[in-house]
Amino acid sequence: MTIPCTLIPGDGIGPEITDATLRILEAAGAPFAWDRQVAGMAAVKVANNPMPDATLDSIKRTNLALKGPLETPVGEGFRSVNVALRKSFDLYANVRPVRDIIPGGRFDNVDIVLVRENTEGLYAGIEHYIKVGEDDKAAAQSIALITRIGSERIIRYAFEYAVRHNRKKITLVHKANILKYSQGLFRSIGQEIAKEYEGRVAFDDRIIDACAMQLVMKPETFDVIVTTNMFGDILSDLISGLVGGLGLAPGANIGKHAAIFEAVHGTAPDIAGQGVANPSALLFAACLMLDHVGESERAQRIRGAAESLIREQQTVTRDLGGTASTSQFADAVIARMTA
Ligand code: NAD
Repeated sequence: MTIPCTLIPGDGIGPEITDATLRILEAAGAPFAWDRQVAGMAAVKVANNPMPDATLDSIKRTNLALKGPLETPVGEGFRSVNVALRKSFDLYANVRPVRDIIPGGRFDNVDIVLVRENTEGLYAGIEHYIKVGEDDKAAAQSIALITRIGSERIIRYAFEYAVRHNRKKITLVHKANILKYSQGLFRSIGQEIAKEYEGRVAFDDRIIDACAMQLVMKPETFDVIVTTNMFGDILSDLISGLVGGLGLAPGANIGKHAAIFEAVHGTAPDIAGQGVANPSALLFAACLMLDHVGESERAQRIRGAAESLIREQQTVTRDLGGTASTSQFADAVIARMTA
């Protein structure tokens, strides 16, 4: 039986890491029937639209997608397609698990799952310029929208995730000392929900700035973090930096009806087209997708092969201090998996 899945290779290094990931998935016998679509700059080139209807229709049909990184112009230009996808399919939970794989690195025992609210906060897209005198852009305002419903569902998702994955503690990260209304609401809802899980999942809360410092000083003291959209975006890059960088960090965007899996990193324009990008983050995202469709055994086989290679530091890509190309790394994972 095959599982229909939309595939968006993406921009920059996207097509290279997607090819490598697909080869490994195929070697592992992953049951996906791919429906290949375009988005981002690749779609602007062929359809003059960063998010064509055909791509949206495909995800509506499959409710499942593996997506490479998409380029978003900074400042002017079209809005982020990633943000639009999350909003279109109401993918409210962004789950980013990070574990240290390489022993003897700067940090040991890092095993953190960051659960980021994905649809509200400062990324809700409520922005406008304010005209003063003749100046149309004398000021600009971005509104951080926090709702009770949005907060409840993401915090509950984090607690349920903790229960399902045998996690012990949730840390809610906020800035309620300054943003007393929006961040205060998020924090107080967390405190209410935590009472329902007393005795099963421990709960504490931290202010974002202190949390950033503690993550660098004592990352091993964190388990599951739940936070609002922008704090989650920033902290997840920070956490991936603790364990060897963006090349290893996968992410899942989960909604009630659909799920999109992707690497945390972007299009890496500085190395695109050179065949040297690390495909591990997208590969680990594909493993999260296998877990999601009930194929955890296959996911573990792939993770086991890739992680053992990364631990040995022999056939690894440049970002991990090696000299292997993207496809050499994929070949080595396949050889290890099928040995
Ligand atoms: P980036 O993640 O693309 O790159 C940051 C650094 O990490 C670069 O030095 C890059 O070479 C390196 N890097 C990233 N992925 C790597 C990999 N797999 N292997 C080896 N090295 C890797 O961040 P950026 O430069 O800030 O963003 C570039 C573009 O990507 C922007 O247009 C941005 O909007 C977009 N972006 C997209 C997504 C997404 O689609 N989910 C996420 C983040 C950024």
